[in-house]
Amino acid sequence: MSGYNFNVTKILDTEVLIVGAGNAGLMAATAAAEKGAKVTVIEKEDSINLMRVGLAGVGTNAQKRAGITINKYDLVEYLAAFAQHNVDEDLIYHWANHSAEAVNWVEDNILKPHGAHLRSEPDAMLTSSAYEAFPTENDPTVDDKTFTFYGEWIQEKVKEMGVTLKFKTPLVQLIKGSDGVQGVIVHDLTSNEYWQIKVSKGVILATGGYSANTELLKKWNPVALKKNVYNDSPRNDGAGIVSALDVGAIKDEEPAHCIFDRGLVPVGTKTEDMYVQTATYKDWLWLGSHPLLKVNLRGQRFSNESVPYQFIVNAASKQPGYLYAMIWDDNYGEYAKQFHMLGCARVGFPGYMASSEKLMEDTEQYVKKGLVVKADSIEELAKKLHLPVENLKITVKRNNHLVVDNFDKDFGKEPYRLTPVDKKPFYGCILGGRILCTNDGLRVNKKMQVLNSNYEPIRHLYAAGNDSGGFFFGSYPDRVPGLAASHAQTFGRLAGQAATEELDTAKSVKTSPAEKENEKTKVTQSLKPGTDATTGPSES
Ligand SMILES: Cc1cc2nc3c(=O)[nH]c(=O)nc-3n(C[C@H](O)[C@H](O)[C@H](O)COP(=O)(O)OP(=O)(O)OC[C@H]3O[C@@H](n4cnc5c(N)ncnc54)[C@H](O)[C@@H]3O)c2cc1C
Repeated sequence: MSGYNFNVTKILDTEVLIVGAGNAGLMAATAAAEKGAKVTVIEKEDSINLMRVGLAGVGTNAQKRAGITINKYDLVEYLAAFAQHNVDEDLIYHWANHSAEAVNWVEDNILKPHGAHLRSEPDAMLTSSAYEAFPTENDPTVDDKTFTFYGEWIQEKVKEMGVTLKFKTPLVQLIKGSDGVQGVIVHDLTSNEYWQIKVSKGVILATGGYSANTELLKKWNPVALKKNVYNDSPRNDGAGIVSALDVGAIKDEEPAHCIFDRGLVPVGTKTEDMYVQTATYKDWLWLGSHPLLKVNLRGQRFSNESVPYQFIVNAASKQPGYLYAMIWDDNYGEYAKQFHMLGCARVGFPGYMASSEKLMEDTEQYVKKGLVVKADSIEELAKKLHLPVENLKITVKRNNHLVVDNFDKDFGKEPYRLTPVDKKPFYGCILGGRILCTNDGLRVNKKMQVLNSNYEPIRHLYAAGNDSGGFFFGSYPDRVPGLAASHAQTFGRLAGQAATEELDTAKSVKTSPAEKENEKTKVTQSLKPGTDATTGPSES
């Protein structure tokens, strides 16, 4: 596709246009429709994205029912300090002040009409400082035993509210005039035509970051390609961020991303040779988040395995080869029962593994696949994992001594999480990171308006979710469970409300057929040369 010479065949009008039918986009759509705006959502795939379970909030109704209070100031200070204050602290307070409103809205308008509700996860503070967290998570559920998915329900609600939802319609380019953003060019994949959508109030970018775009990762976050062997968000190719940069927006100067630690790697594979795109939990080892013995590719322990998801992957990135091995023994079903885990890693609700038997079943499938290996001696295990035999024998022996002493002198793991490797068969696998999303995005103000290089809003342009920035830096703060989804949903809702309140950009929204013909020609001529939003930014 040539970058800019679009032959526009149709012109549509709307007041608020939302790009991306995901966590931020659908919340923006309902918020704008609630305020009476004419709303259109364009989505490049043929379905909405998964609405996440595990939603953070401060002072939600579910938390009130459970008697949970969270000190907002402690939480915001934690988030800012975690980022070494490389964040817009005011924006974090804005999230903390509005998160409950967004979470409650989901519960009241989407879950309750279908007999579901939110259950607050109360016991995040129970364990040691290595694994302690804020009890922020709210889980959608019907029976308080399993998660309930609510994507279909929110899609129904969007339709009921009169929102136009157009699938297979990727954003190609924003159209900017003297009064800010006036519309977009989209590619209607069904007809293979380029259309213009004129927008009178605002365009909200909610395309979810850029973790699927290796060129953008190389440019903005090259270490992500070394730490991660899977990308679990294959839809997010950076289109929203790139389109805004092309009309003068600014973005975070430093990268941020959210990683899970469950990526199984075939023995002998180098991290630079593997970046698998998947939305199906492919080769995803749930057990991988448990605090079992973890060693670097030299067979040596390198971290307290008790730390949350992303931190162990970060620690491994300071070791040769970026990957690490996990070593455990035949009693692991028993150990899994004794570990207190957070969020989806937990055995039992709110985790996805209902029992330790389920976790073992999940693990055994990868033995059959050859991604988890079994052996009757540590020597044999080391050989199968391509780890130095003597080093691994020393490490396992040391681990077993620490268990007997009930004290981790080397890395301070809590005694109840220290587990022996002494019952045959022994297990092992090689693990690497799975990027869930990028979190550095376009700079926005508290109205979610996208900023230009003078830190002034670009009129009629908004961003939310992982297209918006200022909120994260470096790693994801795993100790605030549900923050990524809540950041997207809360800011989506705020963007939808703010865009609806914008003054109309042009009185010519109701264009006559003759004017539309004229417009088609103008669009083709006026778009400046550049790459389109799906291939990359035109700035170097
Ligand atoms: C496996 C997994 C588990 C997770 N679990 C949790 C959790 O429990 N709690 C939590 O807080 N977070 C979780 N996250 C992170 C969370 O899902 C994201 O932070 C959140 O979805 C971001 O919302 P978003 O609206 O920015 O993007 P998305 O929800 O990804 O939505 C973006 C949408 O934009 C569409 N799009 C992209 N490009 C275009 C284009 N050019 N034109 C039109 N549409 C486009 C995409 O197809 C997609 O539908 C998880 C992520 C993954 C992958």
